Amino acid sequence: MGSGTARIRIPGSSGGVRPLRLLGDPGLRAACAPVTAFDAELLRLVEDMFATMYAQEGVGLAANQIGVPLRVFVYDCPDDEDVRHLGSIVNPVLTEADGVVVTGEEGCLSVPGVRSGTPRFDRAVVEGLDLAGRPLRIEGTGFFARCLQHEAGHLDGGLFLDHLTGLRRRRALRTTRRRGLAFTDPAPA
Ligand SMILES: [Zn+2]
Repeated sequence: MGSGTARIRIPGSSGGVRPLRLLGDPGLRAACAPVTAFDAELLRLVEDMFATMYAQEGVGLAANQIGVPLRVFVYDCPDDEDVRHLGSIVNPVLTEADGVVVTGEEGCLSVPGVRSGTPRFDRAVVEGLDLAGRPLRIEGTGFFARCLQHEAGHLDGGLFLDHLTGLRRRRALRTTRRRGLAFTDPAPA
């Protein structure tokens, strides 16, 4: 709060909605490259990512989901205490993931129509840079920790489907086939 409040914009309000890459797109299975330029182009990318995430009513989005192979993700996600977490991170590294493993419902904008109980750690820390290149550390618990693990995974070519086993995995793959989405082999664990 303070004098700067009037200048706060709604993230994504100046961005454009870009087409989502869906399961089967090779860009979702490749590791993204680090961001090296903290410039206007990066700001515009993040604005477009927010606009696209909100248009699809998602809680997180990684750059390769709109076909940009760079290490950036955005989020607007509640935790289990209904605290809202909103932001973006560049070149994130999942530095901590611990606590109990919780199997909770998870979906992905790149895998439409599939939601499945997915095991994730209850606490996660992601460290990287903000949009100006300054160090940034994000800590999350509960559903937000799930989001951080999900989005960090995207940047290494991962999908939540990779974490499913047994009946849940077979059901999810059947649904993707029914929807005409090509499931590619899971990324290496
Ligand atoms: Zn996703």
